[in-house]
Amino acid sequence: MKKAAIFIMLTVFLIGCQQENYLAQQSDKRNAQQDYKEEPVTFVQENEEEEEKEEEQEEKQQEKEQENEQTNENTDDSLTVIDDSESVSLVVNKQRKLPDGFEPDDLEEANVPYHAAEGDPKRLLQKVAADALEGLFADAKEDGLELVAVSGYRSYDRQKQIYENNVATNGQQHADKFSAKPGTSEHQTGLAMDVASAALVAVLEQSFIETNEGQWLEDHAHEHGFIIRYPEGKEEITGYSYEPWHLRYVGKEIATEIYQAQITLEEYFGLYP
Ligand SMILES: [Zn+2]
Repeated sequence: MKKAAIFIMLTVFLIGCQQENYLAQQSDKRNAQQDYKEEPVTFVQENEEEEEKEEEQEEKQQEKEQENEQTNENTDDSLTVIDDSESVSLVVNKQRKLPDGFEPDDLEEANVPYHAAEGDPKRLLQKVAADALEGLFADAKEDGLELVAVSGYRSYDRQKQIYENNVATNGQQHADKFSAKPGTSEHQTGLAMDVASAALVAVLEQSFIETNEGQWLEDHAHEHGFIIRYPEGKEEITGYSYEPWHLRYVGKEIATEIYQAQITLEEYFGLYP
């Protein structure tokens, strides 16, 4: 009995050991298979993840570009339409436009020497500015200087024509850089006049400041309510290069303050941070 019992116990023990061994081996095998399988799987997953990341980045990039395009379009569409177009202190620039079709109702010629032929709308200014221009030219004459009025009022339609011709000939980008969009030219207000020295008739160049007339205007324009609208070194604020010939009527008080502080119309009204 004892022998038989010991034999059975041993057999059970051995079978148990073998089973454990077998199970352990199976487990090892499975692990090994898993390792083998997992590696390439992981590799594939990583590849997919990278591709997904790249796609996401591409999408983001495209979204950004679209946003920029929209911002650009918005900049054009969101030009502020000024609501004080009747005021002599209105500010028109590349961000602020006149209401569509704006036309001053008291345009007239000043009694000054003109470059343009009689009847040309370039000779016109709002009455208050035309009167002031007469005073300015008279003072200049007393100081022995000869000014000529070159270009004043320009209608919305004329500006539209100039702008559209430029787009058709040179493309949108060039046109936007070199000609004002209809509604954004200060000449449409009837408050701006380009002037020249009689000796250099109709030459609107920066060298005008080297003439006696140019120098005199810089010092005396404000006495009659005019400012040099696009001063030197203020291109970033006004959006325009130096134009010593472009006078803008704003009234004596504002003109004098702007002259004394050596600032621009934008800065005067806090329209530039
Ligand atoms: Zn001008």
